Amino acid sequence: MMPRTFTNVALLVALVVPIAATAQTSATRDADCPSCAEWNAPQRPFRIYGNTYWVGTHGLGAILITSPQGHVLIDGGLPESAPDILASIRAIGFRVQDVKLILNSHAHWDHAGGIATLQRVSGAAVAASPWSAKVLSRGASLPDDPQYGVVREYAAVRNVRAIADGDTLRVGPLALVAHFTGGHTPGGATWPGRPCEGARCLEVVYADSQTPVSADDFFFTRGNRYPSVIADFQHGFAVLESLPCDVLLTPHPDASKLWQRLAARGAGNPDALVEAGACKAYAGAARAGLKQRIASEGRR
Ligand SMILES: [Zn+2]
Repeated sequence: MMPRTFTNVALLVALVVPIAATAQTSATRDADCPSCAEWNAPQRPFRIYGNTYWVGTHGLGAILITSPQGHVLIDGGLPESAPDILASIRAIGFRVQDVKLILNSHAHWDHAGGIATLQRVSGAAVAASPWSAKVLSRGASLPDDPQYGVVREYAAVRNVRAIADGDTLRVGPLALVAHFTGGHTPGGATWPGRPCEGARCLEVVYADSQTPVSADDFFFTRGNRYPSVIADFQHGFAVLESLPCDVLLTPHPDASKLWQRLAARGAGNPDALVEAGACKAYAGAARAGLKQRIASEGRR
């Protein structure tokens, strides 16, 4: 099955930015993507900690890190999430034109689909790992993606700067260090940050997806077009286990129980987003998931 292009949808979204509901309706009616309506469900933006905010939808992460000299946005959701993300940035009192840099967890349509629109409206630069930069620039995945053939295309992003693992990206006083954590895609990246409130700072980690999901004809253990897939996963797990991590955030918020933690914060526990060992537990669960997948391939 050929992935349906989202170019026209993105164009439509671009034309109806002030009328987000119109764009959402097209998503909710999308029979090809049963999860899209749920992923794109509206979410009021909120402060995670210090200068770091959730501006994503209820089902897809988008993180805004602010400074007086410009902001960084990580992830763009679905193509039809872009109007909601823009509205969320404005709702918490920031100017979209002050977003100077857009980064990405991984270049699938549910985390990168909105970036072209967000880039066009903000004028921000876009930077990504070399593999993700290629995919973002095409708006289409590549054959070494385990999900090649089942992930959708989306509007291509212009002038994507390819960065190296460990590069520090700066906007004003903000400095984000790229941690490549591939496996789910060859170009996945995890973004740690350290927001402060007064004298207290927290290690907030926006950790990429770690699931060994694939097209039916892709095997993680043999004959695939991504020979370093297992090694990349193992590297990513080691990165996640070694990062200082007080607050874990994930591109799919359910993967880190964000809404339960947020509800607990709302119920009077101001530190409910903080969870000691959350990144280690996330990596541990991912290790188990990969092991299970490898075992299942041995039986096929
Ligand atoms: Zn993905």
